[in-house]
Amino acid sequence: MKRIVAVFPDAHTVVLPDDWPEGLRDDISVFESLYRWLVLERRVAPERLHDRTYAGAGIARELRAAERARIARRTKLKGKRLDAALNISDLGSGPQTLFAGQPIQGNVIVVLPDDDSIDRGSSHMLQESRVAKTRKIRDLASGADFGQWLISNVGREDPVGDLAHDVVHDPDFPRDARHYPEALEYLQSQGYCLGAQNALAEAWNEYLARYPERAVKAAWCERCARAIVELPKGVLVWTESGGFEVLHTCCVQGVPRCSIDLHQLFDGPDLGGLNAFANECGAPSELVARLEARLRLWGFGARRRRQTKVYFIQEPKDGAIKIGYTSGPVERRRAALQTGHPEPLRVLATMDGDRSTEADLHARFGQYRRKGEWFAPHRELIQFIAALVPKVPRP
Ligand SMILES: [Zn+2]
Repeated sequence: MKRIVAVFPDAHTVVLPDDWPEGLRDDISVFESLYRWLVLERRVAPERLHDRTYAGAGIARELRAAERARIARRTKLKGKRLDAALNISDLGSGPQTLFAGQPIQGNVIVVLPDDDSIDRGSSHMLQESRVAKTRKIRDLASGADFGQWLISNVGREDPVGDLAHDVVHDPDFPRDARHYPEALEYLQSQGYCLGAQNALAEAWNEYLARYPERAVKAAWCERCARAIVELPKGVLVWTESGGFEVLHTCCVQGVPRCSIDLHQLFDGPDLGGLNAFANECGAPSELVARLEARLRLWGFGARRRRQTKVYFIQEPKDGAIKIGYTSGPVERRRAALQTGHPEPLRVLATMDGDRSTEADLHARFGQYRRKGEWFAPHRELIQFIAALVPKVPRP
């Protein structure tokens, strides 16, 4: 509602009196009473009020309930026939409840100036919501790897935004880094300040929270500083001096007081095993918290969502492109769609996304829709798909 008023500064914004809709005339519809009241009490121009009056969801509900009661009193209709009579009355004269395709929020009534400006304002707002949706889609598509995701955060007014800005101007930053320590090592070797290093940790956590399925788990051995990629070759040790160490099995010296194989520790999807182990060793909670933060940056404990994908599949004969989504393998979906198509269908691209992403895309390319989920291969759609296809990696 705020947005409507911003777009139409000359609109009448009206709050109904508390006693509405009691004591209204019974022989005209509640909506008609509303318009008469608007004209008499609020000095609204009387022309085409039905088309110019917009009501927030709460008020619209109240008005409909009052109109339903009025029709019931006068006609003795009941049930479905009463509902039908109410719908006819509402569609014929009730205020609008959608604006630019969106339900109106708030307990208020707005009367817009005239038809022309309604069209203008409505297309302005449609445009706005299209821009917002495009941003959301671009956002989803922007994370093929950590570097791409980070760069898409340029313009944020926080340390992550600052780091993104630095990385844009640094062609050597390892944009395809799969592990946090790789990126951190680069920052350290290039003399990035501590603030930037902290921002990297923040960014990495945010990235993993957003794309948990991309977490590539690996630990780093504290003795030899090399990665422990195969978990059965690593252990977590509680040392004599009272500290945690992550080590290659072969790098362990002496007999630790307490130790656990990494693959045992990380059997499940979260870090639940860590607390049990820490209790067993009697480790203080701040050490556990610090270790946990480090493990999370290493990709452990990332919560996995059920991974769903939006796909773009093309029919070769007339080039039509289906935009759909699936929670299973895209190839299986393609094979299922193949039935009924004589020529081989082709998967053009996929992106992370769910049903709402799919709906956004259908709306965005709605003007090119041919039938169902099939769209004409318009340049705009092809360009969008091309942007999703991963670039050839640098040598
Ligand atoms: Zn080692």
